[in-house]
Amino acid sequence: SFVITGATGQLGRHVVESLLAKGVPADQVVALGRDEERLAGLAALGVATRKVDYADTAALAAAFDGADRVLLISGSEVGQRLPQHQNVIDAAAAAGVQLLAYTSIANAASSRIILAGEHKATEEAIVAAGLPHTFLRNSWYIENYSGQLATYTEHGTVLGAAGDGQVSAATRADFAEAAAAALLLEQPQEVYELGGAAFSLKELAATVSEVTGAEVTYTDVPAEELTKVLVGAGLPEGYAAVLADADLGLGRGDLYVDRADLEGLLGRPATSLAEGLRAAL
Ligand code: NDP
Repeated sequence: SFVITGATGQLGRHVVESLLAKGVPADQVVALGRDEERLAGLAALGVATRKVDYADTAALAAAFDGADRVLLISGSEVGQRLPQHQNVIDAAAAAGVQLLAYTSIANAASSRIILAGEHKATEEAIVAAGLPHTFLRNSWYIENYSGQLATYTEHGTVLGAAGDGQVSAATRADFAEAAAAALLLEQPQEVYELGGAAFSLKELAATVSEVTGAEVTYTDVPAEELTKVLVGAGLPEGYAAVLADADLGLGRGDLYVDRADLEGLLGRPATSLAEGLRAAL
C-alpha cells in the first residue's frame, strides 16, 4: 500500500487525489493526519485513514503495518520537525518499506535558508536509516504569492527583500502530482530538484498587474524592515523573521531550480505563475 503522511494538509490532499487519478485503487492508499474533519473528507474518497500524531510512535507503527511505499510530507511545526520526522523514518524502517519519499526544500544540501535546516537534517536521517528513498526537493508554492493578491493590489506593491533573485515556484497541485508520479516509478531518482519557470519578485509584481489590471510594483526593503512589516500585519516575530530570511535566500538563488525535474515527472510544463494567480482570483 501507499501511506501518505500529512494527507490532511493542502499538499497531501492533492497527492491522494493524484494517486487515485493515476489509477491506484483507493483501498491501496492510507492517508494520515490529525484533523478529524479533513480525515473524514479523505475517507469520502474511499481511501483508508488513520489519525496519527508524529509524536505517537505506537500509532505510527500500526499505520505503517503492510506499507510498501511511504510519502513523508514535511510537518508544519517549524523547529519541532526533526524529532517528528525521525519517528516516521523509524516506523518506515521497522515496517521494511520499499521506498520512503520525502518532501524537502530546493537545494536542500546547500541552501542557507533557516527553514532548510530541518529538511537537510531529515534527508541525512533517511540516508542514515539506510532506506531506499527519493527526495522531492520542492521550491516555493505559487500559493505563497497568490494568497496575497488582495494585499498586493490594496497597497499597489509587492514588498520583499529578495532583490533581483529568482524563485522557481510552482503550484501545490503540480508538486503533488509530481510526488504521486515519483511514488509510482519502479525506481525513482534519489533526488529531484523541483520547480517551475523562475521569476523575480519584480516579475511577480508585473504578472500581478497583468492578471488583476491593478498597477502593482515591487518594493525591495532590508530584511529587518520586511520583518517589521510582517509583524505589523499580525505575524509572530519569529515566523516573520523566518519568512524575511527566506526572502534573503531567494535573493541568493537558494529557491532557484535549474533542472527540468518537475516537468519530467509531470510529463508536461508546470502551471505558470499567471495561471496560478488567475486561479486564485
Ligand atoms: P499544511 O499546513 O496544509 O499541512 C501540514 C500537514 O502536516 C497536515 O496534514 C498536518 O496534519 C500535518 N502535521 C503537522 N504536524 C503534525 C504532527 N505533529 N503529527 C501529524 N501530522 C502533522 O501544509 P501544506 O500541505 O501546504 O505543505 C506541506 C508541507 O510543506 C508543510 O508542512 C511544510 O513543511 C512545507 N511547506 C512548504 C512551503 C513551500 O512554499 N514549499 C510553504 C509552506 C509549507 P493536521 O492538519 O491533520 O494536523
